[in-house]
Amino acid sequence: MTRNPIPILTYHQVDTPPARGVPYRGLVVSPAVFARQMGLLKMLGYQGLSMTALEPYLRGDKTGKVVGITLDDGYVNNLEHALPVLRHHGFSATCYIVSGQLGGSNVWDHTKGVPPQRLMDTPQLKAWLAGGQEVGAHTRNHVDLLQASDATAREEIIGCRRDLEQQLGVEVRHFCYPYGFHRPEHAAMVREAGYATATTTQRARTQASDDMFELPRVPVLRTTSRAVLWLKVATGYEDRRRA
Ligand SMILES: [Zn+2]
Repeated sequence: MTRNPIPILTYHQVDTPPARGVPYRGLVVSPAVFARQMGLLKMLGYQGLSMTALEPYLRGDKTGKVVGITLDDGYVNNLEHALPVLRHHGFSATCYIVSGQLGGSNVWDHTKGVPPQRLMDTPQLKAWLAGGQEVGAHTRNHVDLLQASDATAREEIIGCRRDLEQQLGVEVRHFCYPYGFHRPEHAAMVREAGYATATTTQRARTQASDDMFELPRVPVLRTTSRAVLWLKVATGYEDRRRA
């Protein structure tokens, strides 16, 4: 099978960026910038899709100008600022949720000096779903799988799906490795847990030859201009950054 490369965009927070010098400031895309980036994709004729909507394109069963949109961790600011923009353009996105922190905070980042940010609780996740968006799994506790025992890794991968399905009453079919870190055995665990895809932080657009459980993505940062976003989506700019 051959197909055109498909970019899967990675976002984290969509909010007013914190002060200069705050760690991971680059991962906070302002609502206005996010709106301009989605507007550019629309203008270029791309359809922004959640992982489930993207799946037939990844498998080569459908063709079209499509871009996957993913948001990691499940910040409340995704609901507040990204959802209205996604709906405006008729786009869908997958938000990867840490099921042990529903209504909690990005506790895994606190020791790095990253400001605490609220994560969606169950009613907020239901509002996200009702807005035509999707929820994926990001482990129970945002664990670094490279540091976890196999038993813990399995529990985090399977348990997150079970937690979210129980809380939300929907099927959860997509997984994202916390920090992008994983070994091949974790990809096997994700497959065995019944997920259909898993995304990493490996940089590239996806190719037909990519393993569905080790999909590369395209990072979008606070400073990503529309010109660079176009390069990332429409050219080999990111593919050359593949490790
Ligand atoms: Zn994360």
